[in-house]
Formats: sequence, structure tokens, C-alpha cells
Amino acid sequence: MRQYCIQKLGIGEIKEIAAHHTGLNGWQYQPYNKRVGLIGDAAGLVDPLLGEGIYNAVRSGQILAQSIIEGKNDVLATISLFSKGLKEVQKDLLSCYKTSFWFYKIPAIGYATLTLPITRYFLMKGFSRGWTFSKIKTNSYNLSFWKRAIRDIHK
Ligand SMILES: Cc1cc2nc3c(=O)[nH]c(=O)nc-3n(C[C@H](O)[C@H](O)[C@H](O)COP(=O)(O)OP(=O)(O)OC[C@H]3O[C@@H](n4cnc5c(N)ncnc54)[C@H](O)[C@@H]3O)c2cc1C
Repeated sequence: MRQYCIQKLGIGEIKEIAAHHTGLNGWQYQPYNKRVGLIGDAAGLVDPLLGEGIYNAVRSGQILAQSIIEGKNDVLATISLFSKGLKEVQKDLLSCYKTSFWFYKIPAIGYATLTLPITRYFLMKGFSRGWTFSKIKTNSYNLSFWKRAIRDIHK
């Protein structure tokens, strides 16, 4: 980090570097508290592959709000609805976690894979459609999507 700041950013002297963990492991979060529901970073919903947390923060807030409305003042029903609703986000986080495992194991290979035109194409197209990472992974097996990708990359 020090070397990067000096060489790439032209910063002279760095006295102190401070860092903090992002909220991870949210695929294991199990709501149980009767008075508090955690969402976003507080629930550990940051994607461990790319560090994205905004989508999951907003989505988990929507799921909790919907659970409160549908739970109709029944706390246990609300917790149950929230747990079930969160599965959609947690499934995606687990998929990111599994991918991050090999991605960060050998960063040079992970980076090379991420920057391949075909990978970039799928990620950009998928995210801009509002798809989650696991949906992009699933849909990348769709042949018509591949054909379109190859055609677009060669344009
Ligand atoms: C450097 C950096 C870059 C990032 N880049 C991206 C990115 O490119 N894309 C992406 O998707 N995600 C990114 N993230 C992650 C993303 O910012 C977070 O996952 C997301 O903002 C989480 O939203 P949140 O509402 O859960 O928490 P926060 O956005 O942290 O909101 C929590 C709020 O609660 C307030 N608060 C705390 N304690 C109290 C208190 N006691 N009383 C009242 N208020 C309180 C805080 O001030 C804060 O405003 C990045 C994070 C960092 C740190």
C-alpha cells in the first residue's frame, strides 16, 4: 500500500495507514432477535468477491420492510418471513464466496480471468440488467447469450 501510494499517486510520506473489515459472512446470518433486524453491512451482506454492498443493503432493507408489513405485528411470523426472504441475498453471497476462494488464491490468475473480454461482457451486461452474480453465472450457460457476447465482442 505504501509503495503503491508513493509510486502511483506521488504521495511523499505516509505516516499512518488505517483499515477496517467490511461486513462479510452474511450468508450465515440468521435473524432471531425479536426487537432488531439487521440489514446491509450490519448483517454482513457485502459480497466477498467484488466488495459490493449497496445492492444487498437496499435489497435486505426492502425484504425486512416487506416482512414487517406482511407479519402484521406477529413478531415470530415477521422473523420467519425475513429469514425466508433473505435467502435470495444469502444464496448469492455464498456463490460469491465460493468464487472468491479460488479468485484470491492466485490473484494473478483471478485478475486475468476477471479482465477477459468475455468475463467483462457477462458481468457488465448482467449487472446492468439488474441480475445478481449467481444469476449471471447461471445465465452464462445460455447459448444465445454466448452467441450474442461473441458477436458483440468482435464488433
Ligand atoms: C471505500 C469503500 C468503497 C466501496 N465501494 C463500493 C462500491 O463501489 N459498490 C458497492 O456496491 N459497495 C461499495 N462499498 C460498500 C458499501 O458502501 C456498503 O456495503 C453499503 O454502503 C452498506 O450500506 P449500509 O446502509 O448497510 O451501511 P452504511 O452505508 O455504512 O450506513 C450506515 C449508517 O449508519 C450511521 N450510523 C452508525 N452508527 C450510528 C448511530 N449510533 N446512530 C445513528 N446513525 C449511525 C452511519 O453514519 C451510516 O450513515 C464500499 C465501501 C467502502 C468502505
